[in-house]
Amino acid sequence: VLGNKEKKEIEKYIAELNADSQKEIVGDIAQDSACDDFMITGFEGRHKAFLQIQQGCNHRCTYCIIPYARGNNRSVPLPLIIKQIKKLLQQGFKEICLTGVDICSYEPSFSGVVKDILEQIPELPCLQFGSLDPAAIDDDFIALLSKYSNLDSHFHFSIQSGDNLILKRMGRRHSREDVIKLCQKIRAVRPNAAFGADFICGFPTETEEAFANTCKLVEEAGLSKLHVFPYSEREGTPAARMPQLPMEERRRRAAVLRELSKE
Ligand code: SF4
Repeated sequence: VLGNKEKKEIEKYIAELNADSQKEIVGDIAQDSACDDFMITGFEGRHKAFLQIQQGCNHRCTYCIIPYARGNNRSVPLPLIIKQIKKLLQQGFKEICLTGVDICSYEPSFSGVVKDILEQIPELPCLQFGSLDPAAIDDDFIALLSKYSNLDSHFHFSIQSGDNLILKRMGRRHSREDVIKLCQKIRAVRPNAAFGADFICGFPTETEEAFANTCKLVEEAGLSKLHVFPYSEREGTPAARMPQLPMEERRRRAAVLRELSKE
């Protein structure tokens, strides 16, 4: 078994693996400060390409195992991103979707990298984003939306809950009020904006009232296209040690929220 980092240097380990095929060579991902070279993560037809601009995450949401598996935040250098987008445009792609584990934590700045891309590649027809952290969208980003019409009008937010106490217990950095305000700000410069969102239903200690707050947020913020998951505990995370709701109830709440997505 080779770790992600070790896979990139497989020649170094061949002798060891030949001697013992069961050997595990997995380094400490938290010490990894470089990004993988594999920046294009997928395509949708011949028009859209997904481009990874960062990996890992410095946050520690209490339900999430990703930082332990993928390490801390690492950003792909801007010149590589620019080069890759230009190449994709030459190949005929029209929409570029920036992706990553936590793209809003791109360093030194998320709105900065978006601005640099738009300024350096004015011929780019459409720039889109994977999941966005509502706590990390700043006014500079909103200003870009009013200036550049080639920034897409669909946004997908990682919201997870509409109840402030649950958000706190999840270790998220936004409140329900922040989400409503953010959607209003974006609509003020993009009246046709559409918002999708990720939600977790039945997080430990979530009461009926807390769940109702999540349902209300969908309407108050004007969200559609919801990605809804019943909470599923990940071993070793703080949330897995909190009082759990029955799985049946988590699934019921997820089904209720999914119905709202269809309305
Ligand atoms: S949920 Fe997202 S922001 Fe939170 S720790 Fe996991 S990857 Fe990071």
